[in-house]
Amino acid sequence: MSLRDDLAARIAAQGPITVAEYMAEALLHPTYGYYSTRDPLGAEGDFTTAPEISQMFGELVGLSLAQSWLDQGAPSSFTLAELGPGRGTLMADILRATTRVPGFLGAARITLVEASDTLRDVQRETLAGHEINYAETADDLPEAPIWLVANEFFDALPIRQFQRDGAGWRERFVGLDAGKLTIGLSPVGPQASLNHRLDDTENGRVVEVCPSAPSILSAIGARIEAHGGAALIIDYGDWRSLGDTLQALQHHEPTDPLADPGQADLTTHVDFEVLAQSATPAAHTRITPQGVFLERLGITARAQALAAKLDGPALEAHVAAHRRLTHPAEMGNLFKVLGLFPTTAAPPPGLEK
Ligand code: SAH
Repeated sequence: MSLRDDLAARIAAQGPITVAEYMAEALLHPTYGYYSTRDPLGAEGDFTTAPEISQMFGELVGLSLAQSWLDQGAPSSFTLAELGPGRGTLMADILRATTRVPGFLGAARITLVEASDTLRDVQRETLAGHEINYAETADDLPEAPIWLVANEFFDALPIRQFQRDGAGWRERFVGLDAGKLTIGLSPVGPQASLNHRLDDTENGRVVEVCPSAPSILSAIGARIEAHGGAALIIDYGDWRSLGDTLQALQHHEPTDPLADPGQADLTTHVDFEVLAQSATPAAHTRITPQGVFLERLGITARAQALAAKLDGPALEAHVAAHRRLTHPAEMGNLFKVLGLFPTTAAPPPGLEK
């Protein structure tokens, strides 16, 4: 039995499922889910991420969080949280870079939110020597000051897709056609939550909605405003999502998202406007291109310092990694950073109101 067969049987018996239900099964089905069954990152896997490209990414993220902690009076106990930590590389780089910030690590209680048991094992190994706590969801994070990072987490959350049709919307569903998984449309109807999108969408355009994002942001924003802290949310996407952005990657190549559920990574672009608004009462920064964020934090100086110790292929790889993280034609513009912070405090370094 494959997940494809399992879903086809379920759809044949009970009818089409939403794109969100499809994504949830494909990514996190306990037996066949993409993240449940493998470590997908790196050259051997299906995709790579900024922390896997260079240690500089996590170092600078860590220093931004630590400076924000200092700016808010260095509270003696806080949650250092990460959503979707992958292999634990980003957290490991944060912890190494911030050992030089007196008091920071002693005050930090490291808490990870991770759905995949396979990746939890990898994280425990990467972070061996540190005390690691897990929270099942953002709602379970302690009621305490919190400095949090999420890199390529929100792009993995299931989304529903609605296609504009006159003054209403049709939802895109995954159904069956001659035994093949295929996209179909529901009858047209109103969608109160999309009324604000009637002004900026044309007939036929698709708008994506991530049902789980608002409650995650609301839990984080409430803690930041009540107890102090900050969040850095890094992902591809824009202030408002527009269009069908569901994509599948397998062995670093794009593939059909419906072809083989559970065998390819599925992601969508993130709608930062919804994330920022859901975090109220906490304040939010402008979304800032990743390249600009990293330049402001001094990535070029850090790259030069590291380069001085390298030569040959290692130096070439390092120069390429710096370029990949920052250049507008690579990840520099596509990826954006959103900061959350208390209304009474300054935004985290690298970002502006
Ligand atoms: N942040 C890491 C990994 C990104 S991949 C990096 O930058 O390298 C997405 C991560 O989110 C994986 O760790 C995946 O298992 C986790 N994840 C995906 N959906 C999740 C969910 N609903 N709840 C918790 N973790 C989830």
